[in-house]
Amino acid sequence: MSCQNTDPHEGHDHDANPEEEVKNMTLTADDLEESLYAFPDLPYAADALEPYIDAHIMELHYDKHHKGYFKKFLAAVEGKDINGMALDEIFAHVSDHSVAVRNNAGGYYNHWMFWTNLSPEPGEISESLRTAIEEDFGSFEAFQDEFNLAAKTQFGSGWAWLIVLPGNHLAVVSTPNQDNPLMNVVPEQGIPILALDVWEHAYYLQYENRRGDYVSNFWEIIDWETVSERYEMALEGHVYNP
Ligand code: MN
Repeated sequence: MSCQNTDPHEGHDHDANPEEEVKNMTLTADDLEESLYAFPDLPYAADALEPYIDAHIMELHYDKHHKGYFKKFLAAVEGKDINGMALDEIFAHVSDHSVAVRNNAGGYYNHWMFWTNLSPEPGEISESLRTAIEEDFGSFEAFQDEFNLAAKTQFGSGWAWLIVLPGNHLAVVSTPNQDNPLMNVVPEQGIPILALDVWEHAYYLQYENRRGDYVSNFWEIIDWETVSERYEMALEGHVYNP
């Protein structure tokens, strides 16, 4: 059965307050270390992306929000046959699983994608990816415009993505809540190679209501080497997993 309801205000009250639920969990540090899933360190210092994303946001976002999704994901798969399954396999059949698996596997994976496509040293985009972007969007600037629009107009909480579609064309999509383009519940599935978190928790303490400024500054801190590597992997059908 497919679960298409993504309105955070409807039903599933126990998912409405992730912070509260994490506080009430019994998982310990040992449980986290012994789990079948990794919770990677941030690949840079919390203040490394300043002035574009300040250290306070990075600390809260990683230590509270991201780790919260990870702990809730472990709780959601504990004792189930999907415990230990690769995340992309879980996403491919996510409609078979609980809302807790969908939200928290998404939150765990999406943030990991996001941290690792940011860098204080952006690096160079590959010729291969640049050419593909120019062919599929008309120009690099047209791609940026389309991505910015997706990020700014995603209603409420969600994500903007650059994805590789089946057939290897590129597309820009957005998803609500913690859904991602690998899930079998989104209109356009593909392999994500670039992610931008547009939840208010990602920018509000620094940018307040100016989501557009946050989205514009994102372009200053994209790790194009990593995104280019992900593109080559995606062409072979491979998905980046933590
Ligand atoms: Mn987030």
